[in-house]
Amino acid sequence: MSVIVSGSGKVLKHAKIVLVFWGAGWANSPAISAEEMAGVFSGILATPYMSKMGQYNGICNATIIRMALDTSKEFTEQYHNTPVFHQSELENMIAAHIEDGVVPGPGIDPDVFYMVVSEISVVCRETADEEAAGFHQSFTHGGSKVHYAWVSNSGSLTSGNMVPKTFVHELVEGCSDPEVDSFKRGSDGHEIGDLCEDQFRTMQNIKTLNAPGGIVVQPYFSDVDDACVLPTAYSVKSWGRFRNADLTKGLRPFLPAGGSLRSLLACGNTQPPAGFRISISQEENAFGGLLVVDGEQFTPGKSVFLGINHLPNKTVTITRFATVHPDGTFRYIEDFRCTSTNPADLATDVSITAIDTATGNLISATTSSRIFVCRPALN
Ligand SMILES: [Zn+2]
Repeated sequence: MSVIVSGSGKVLKHAKIVLVFWGAGWANSPAISAEEMAGVFSGILATPYMSKMGQYNGICNATIIRMALDTSKEFTEQYHNTPVFHQSELENMIAAHIEDGVVPGPGIDPDVFYMVVSEISVVCRETADEEAAGFHQSFTHGGSKVHYAWVSNSGSLTSGNMVPKTFVHELVEGCSDPEVDSFKRGSDGHEIGDLCEDQFRTMQNIKTLNAPGGIVVQPYFSDVDDACVLPTAYSVKSWGRFRNADLTKGLRPFLPAGGSLRSLLACGNTQPPAGFRISISQEENAFGGLLVVDGEQFTPGKSVFLGINHLPNKTVTITRFATVHPDGTFRYIEDFRCTSTNPADLATDVSITAIDTATGNLISATTSSRIFVCRPALN
């Protein structure tokens, strides 16, 4: 069933991206500025895009830790009328900036990932004949492995070899196969980006001056789904599965005081906004009970996943979705009816967990008085 083999299993678990914009062209008011590019990359990393990378040895969200601009380089060498650089020049440039302190060295963290975006139209001489839009590699410097990628700049965020697509391609492959000896398709050695290389997806929520309708990226291969995926929500099910977590008792045991699923998926670097909360009210009646869940500070227009579980005498897990209003609140109401009169079906500690599917922020609360939840009225 498994298409992807793990090889050495080496991954960048929590990539710390050092972005380097390389070339004199960046100083000549390019149509797409380094700032706009950086905004696009940050925008991608703020979404759940990487949330299914957890299956590859627990990879979680990458973060950009530093940006640098090197406008000293003039690309004077030509090949087929296109300016080129050699792979060795790129590696020497990174090494030189580690030495002069413009960028942090690989010694600060094993997951530092240097991503170099060259000025418009420049290509790598060694990969020019295959028309590669980017590549990722590693070299040793001062006794440490330097993991890096080159992202070409086609001058577009939406067409041709659009930059955001090349960025995510090298990002997911650089994380899952940083030393080119790790996760790949067994049959032909293709990496998880290559397997979805010819697919294009618009991220409509990431709009910029040069991408008013949203940027274009590609999905990556998910072995557990046996498909190319572009996650747009944080899934507890996937998270539990990738970490062998026992979800049979509901979600509450993982984050008893609430927190952020994204934080778990991002190795703990994000927290829910202040005031993120739910409150529960309930009304017991002859047939069961009316359950009302109110939430605040959720993502407007997005959906909330509700897990209702943890009954004392039977394990009942009910899942529901609610839609968030423009002001960040939601209200969910359901009339639960009990067909049995068995007092065992009366639960006092029903746990309700709400997850903001856009951010992964998660919060639980428990019903304070008895409520029948043995069977929902509508199912
Ligand atoms: Zn690739």
